Amino acid sequence: MAGPGRVYIVGAGPGDPELITVKGLRLLRSADAVVYDRLVPGELLGEAKRGARLVYAGKAPGRHAMSQDEINRLLEGLAREGLVVVRLHGGDPLTFGRGEEECAYLLSRGIPCEVVPGIPSYVAASAEHLLPLGSRGYSRVYTVATGTLAGGTPLPRERLEAAMRASDSLVVLMAASRAAEILGLAAETLGPQAPAAIVESASTPKSKLTLGPAGELAATAKPRPPALIYIGGAVRWRLDTLPTGRS
Ligand code: SAH
Repeated sequence: MAGPGRVYIVGAGPGDPELITVKGLRLLRSADAVVYDRLVPGELLGEAKRGARLVYAGKAPGRHAMSQDEINRLLEGLAREGLVVVRLHGGDPLTFGRGEEECAYLLSRGIPCEVVPGIPSYVAASAEHLLPLGSRGYSRVYTVATGTLAGGTPLPRERLEAAMRASDSLVVLMAASRAAEILGLAAETLGPQAPAAIVESASTPKSKLTLGPAGELAATAKPRPPALIYIGGAVRWRLDTLPTGRS
């Protein structure tokens, strides 16, 4: 019987195929099997070695090609065949990616597993559109939240409101379908002029930034996923500092 293989839980980065780490790319090129998500940049799959098994395990909002349990068992099965497996996640595996659950499952069954970080979507979006989350005088405390919990239930409004009050900047992932509600809550909590932004498809050719006061964006914004909502100091820095900040 083959010895146990190994599973690397690898962050593929946010969309631009160049935003994977050197280590992640090296492992991807040497893997016998690659299990990938919906948000993994397609170009990266072309980096897998010839003959590598490519398995799609994508999850669309509200629709799962495979349940988490099935993904865990798939990774276990491939490793038990003695294969080196790369499990590719969009962005960073431990940023609302459930990479930690996959690793814990494998480790508890004696299968070696290692996490290789990736650039999270919000880090890439901040770089691309100059929305600095840690910025002198503007954003000393920032919060990264998910808008959606397991099973598609929304993160409760009280949690979001508390985060808005406690942070200079807030970024919300998995919130495209509740964008109007979250921006409306920001307008109520911080005032209708609170600076806000939506970033869609960061670091891809479709990337789009929409800026505006929370009160206005709440009425007009209909983001296409994948999208991020920014509220507060990171956006204010841009408005105050860049000549084109308001465009
Ligand atoms: N692990 C990922 C997040 C997975 S949750 C990471 O590190 O970013 C999926 C959510 O990520 C989406 O609903 C969206 O809010 C965000 N997201 C992922 N890729 C994105 C992109 N290119 N642009 C904007 N948001 C993105």
